[in-house]
Amino acid sequence: MGLQEEINRRRTFAIVSHPDAGKTTLTEKLLLFGGAIRVAGAVKNNKIKQGAASDFMEIERQRGISVATSVMGFEYEGYKVNILDTPGHQDFQEDTFRTLTAVDSVIIVIDAAKGVEPQTERLMKVCRMRKTPVMVYINKMDRPTGDMFDLLDEIEDQLKIKTRPLSWPINSGSDFKGVYNIYDSSLRLFDPSITEIEDAVEIDDLSTSKLDELIGNDADTLREEVELIEGVFPEFDHDAYLDGDVAPVFFGSALYNFGVQELLDSFVRIAPSPTKKDAEERVVMANESKFTGFIFKIHANIDPNHRSRIAFVKICSGKFERNKNYRHMRLAKNFKFSSPTAFMASKKETIEEAYPGDIVGIPDTGNFVIGDTLTEGENLHYKGMPSFSPEMFRYIENADPMKAKQLAKGVDQLMEEGVAQLFTNQFNGRKIIGCVGQLQFEVIEYRLQHEYGAKCRFESLPMYKACWIEADDPAVIADFKKRKYQKMAVDKQGRDVFMADSNFLLQMAQTDFKDIRFHFTSEF
Ligand code: GDP
Repeated sequence: MGLQEEINRRRTFAIVSHPDAGKTTLTEKLLLFGGAIRVAGAVKNNKIKQGAASDFMEIERQRGISVATSVMGFEYEGYKVNILDTPGHQDFQEDTFRTLTAVDSVIIVIDAAKGVEPQTERLMKVCRMRKTPVMVYINKMDRPTGDMFDLLDEIEDQLKIKTRPLSWPINSGSDFKGVYNIYDSSLRLFDPSITEIEDAVEIDDLSTSKLDELIGNDADTLREEVELIEGVFPEFDHDAYLDGDVAPVFFGSALYNFGVQELLDSFVRIAPSPTKKDAEERVVMANESKFTGFIFKIHANIDPNHRSRIAFVKICSGKFERNKNYRHMRLAKNFKFSSPTAFMASKKETIEEAYPGDIVGIPDTGNFVIGDTLTEGENLHYKGMPSFSPEMFRYIENADPMKAKQLAKGVDQLMEEGVAQLFTNQFNGRKIIGCVGQLQFEVIEYRLQHEYGAKCRFESLPMYKACWIEADDPAVIADFKKRKYQKMAVDKQGRDVFMADSNFLLQMAQTDFKDIRFHFTSEF
């Protein structure tokens, strides 16, 4: 198979949702339908119930150090499907945002009864920013819900994307009878006692009396509603979906395996394969002959006896080959990888080659940081690995004078994994850890102790936000830094960061220094 054929059959995506909407259940059912696993229960939920670090670490351990389920690849009807897992807990949303840089599309799961929830909105914002194509799966139709037209309105309104139902439910809750597939005019009837996949009934024409025999009085309602859909919604526009302007919508019940087959079949047909990716220097096409890729995730082995890490490379162009020399742009050094692994849902295996859309795991001893680019020699840097302004800050201090080195190393490595962000205050030289959620601090403390034998102490630092500053005239920056010297810090890359104590002081600074641009993500 040539490069273009390999690219065309790749489907790399993430399933995202607000916790509890059914992401884990749907992921597992897709793997079951895809033939990648045989029994339910193989995909562990990554939810943190009590919100404690030890709980989080225990979950990581149970998930086989989560590397195994970070990427789940499988073959389905000639397609190579790669599902990228994202953490469910919102304290780790930065990890999710980074994973979203490595996918070509997204499936958003929405609980039919709860509708759009806060995390759905945040995730959709990131998709909109990058124009990632989005498909919606409305889950839990076996439970009582409100009106589905209202739900579509809510989605359009709150997620700021047009919708186009490609299937339509017949009732919900205990009256739920099934789903009519608008895309290929077939009807699948729901029976909660059946877990096998039943064949769908072909319906050539909704006016057929077969429909009345099958669903009785609901037949007329279905006819009316489908007519309404065809009248209100424009024809499904594939290009508009690929541009991120319209989201096809499917209905089902992941728990009862319902609507999952339709979703998977439609997904492989309409979801995009990799096409291109922006680098600082130029746009790189997936079908260029030379390999390029970037690191979007680094996973430490949580077993302290095996201090190896795995760097996750997303292949963006060309063919990746084992034992070939590749250029690590940031270190300006060449590397050869002798044991790259592919992630198949059922197993992990060493591979000889990989194609755009694939994720390859590379054992790493500390050469990689998130965002690093690999090429065949071309000077290229992939964009779009943002850091977000953290919202919680603490000074980090060494609590065991004998273990200063271990602490420094541990902090360094955890930051490289992207667990949190490190800033150095330019006034007093103290190190500051910035996080999105409380749980991250606990995980850092726990991991420093268990993996590096180091003890840290956090000291509270009531601060509002850290923002990256930029100006056209270097003298303006220099002046700002002089005036705000107590509040200036640098991030890991040495970029200037202003640490604002409060929203009020940030607004003052913005008013007083009109020539300075204050950024809330490092990607500007
Ligand atoms: P996640 O947090 O988004 O990964 O959600 P889970 O997949 O863990 O699901 C949360 C809860 O909802 C679990 O108890 C599931 O069994 C349940 N659930 C998932 N899908 C359905 C469904 O289609 N119908 C019903 N009734 N429950 C579901």
